[in-house]
Amino acid sequence: MRYLCTNCNYIYDEWEWDGIEEIDLSTKFEDLWDTYTCPVCWEGRDSFHEITEEINYLDGNTHLYDLEIDHFPEIEIKGDKLIVSIWNGIHPMWDSHRVSSISLYDEYWDLIEEKFLWIDEDPVVEFDFDDLWSYEIRVRCSLHWVWWRKIGE
Ligand SMILES: [Zn+2]
Ligand SMILES: [Zn+2]
Repeated sequence: MRYLCTNCNYIYDEWEWDGIEEIDLSTKFEDLWDTYTCPVCWEGRDSFHEITEEINYLDGNTHLYDLEIDHFPEIEIKGDKLIVSIWNGIHPMWDSHRVSSISLYDEYWDLIEEKFLWIDEDPVVEFDFDDLWSYEIRVRCSLHWVWWRKIGE
């Protein structure tokens, strides 16, 4: 989740370390202490508003643009494991640009599990797979928002 400081337009992003030593990467905005202030203009938490995630829908059946190909989750089922990897492994895994997590959702958009990825890690994750007839994979990129692929009907 990203939060915008409405006073100065600073964006708090749990996946971008903002240089404040006390705040670990992946700390959610809700979990920041009550007296947290914007590191740029020192306004309090009340001046921050959540930025709704922009979701890009990926349809594997149509022609994919380069940016879509870079974020396209390939899916393989091996026994009771669902293995998800990002197409060709060509997406960067740098500090400034990386796949930060891959999540599995059921057909009701309920999160089953989210797997977090770190710098230089291969963007491949494994989920316990319980024979869902329909499910979704969401790929969060620190630069290109969320990519969403629906499987089954
Ligand atoms: Zn600010
Ligand atoms: Zn990206």
